[in-house]
Amino acid sequence: MAKQDYYNVLGVSKNASQEDIKAAYKRLAKQFHPDVSSDPQAEEKFKEVLEAYNVLSDQQKRHNYDQFGHDAERFSGFGGFRAGDFSNIEFDFEEIFSDFGFGRSPFSDIFGAAFGKQGRRQSRGTDILKQVSISFEEAAFGTEKEIEVERIEACHSCSGTGRGRNSKEVNCEACNGAGFQRRVRQTFLGTIATQTTCNKCGGEGKTIKDPCKSCSGNGTVKKSRKIKVKIPAGINSGNHLRIAGEGNAGERNASAGNLFIVVFVEPHEVFKRDGKDIFMEMPLSFSEAALGITIEAPTLKGKAKVRIPASTQTGTIFKLRGQGIKEVGSSVFGDQFIKVIVQTPERMTQKQRKLFEELAEEEGTKNKRDGFFDRLAGKFS
Ligand SMILES: [Zn+2]
Ligand SMILES: [Zn+2]
Repeated sequence: MAKQDYYNVLGVSKNASQEDIKAAYKRLAKQFHPDVSSDPQAEEKFKEVLEAYNVLSDQQKRHNYDQFGHDAERFSGFGGFRAGDFSNIEFDFEEIFSDFGFGRSPFSDIFGAAFGKQGRRQSRGTDILKQVSISFEEAAFGTEKEIEVERIEACHSCSGTGRGRNSKEVNCEACNGAGFQRRVRQTFLGTIATQTTCNKCGGEGKTIKDPCKSCSGNGTVKKSRKIKVKIPAGINSGNHLRIAGEGNAGERNASAGNLFIVVFVEPHEVFKRDGKDIFMEMPLSFSEAALGITIEAPTLKGKAKVRIPASTQTGTIFKLRGQGIKEVGSSVFGDQFIKVIVQTPERMTQKQRKLFEELAEEEGTKNKRDGFFDRLAGKFS
């Protein structure tokens, strides 16, 4: 069968970038993967895709191919594709299939067999997610928390090996020490063994006689741990911290997962927060707003004097520069905003009532409002 043009195989142009070539390869490798596709020609097409990628992803090979076409492969030292020689191809199926909805690639075992690698990877420990509640102030200034985590740890008694004191490692009976069980198929590549990790030994190929009593040979035990977590100043609700290696231990000393801490900041009685700025409302009486006053406003760090000038209207906002919350990982502080609310007295003493009456008389309230509406009416006429 005449060989197809490699660019056509990948569906890319002659001047395609390496990124384009890789993207096309990933897409087509998924599409024609013999274990995914129902297309009877999938294996043949898959092989073509691999071959095309093998050449076009290598600058030197691509250059030769561009110059000489398939003849280039006859040159000695060209390193053209030969069935069974996959050693130069980047088989990152983990990556290819990770966005394919399989999570950990179920094909790693298959390719382990096809390409001569033993698929005996111990899986990394899983991640743990915990939520922690902290106060408004703790979020503003940072804090340290002790978080209790239930997690899988390497067994102390056997240092994660799963072996007892007098135990011996023997070949697994189920797989005769291979670590996997295989099913053999005849394909274009010759014999392909589709292999699955051995259930009994978890791919180790060995089982342990007289395993560690503390962990029954698993190498891991469940432990409750208190982990100190430094929470940085400025953290906000919904932010998370990643604490590397504090998740569950991996199988038989494989690397541990991570611990993720999701932070919830409790609301404050007085302050509200928006990013690094904080907001509060401050009640003022009529006379305070009218005459002006210096008040003491609460801040995160204590109190601050705020001068309210005479004739301040309700809803006026005052800003205390730099009295807000520190931005995480910087030295920038937000501001504090104070909105004054002029409050109408709900209960009055007789004297207050009398004074208000006198005030009303002095103001000539009715006339003033008439003037206001006159001006308003003027705007619309
Ligand atoms: Zn143990
Ligand atoms: Zn086994």
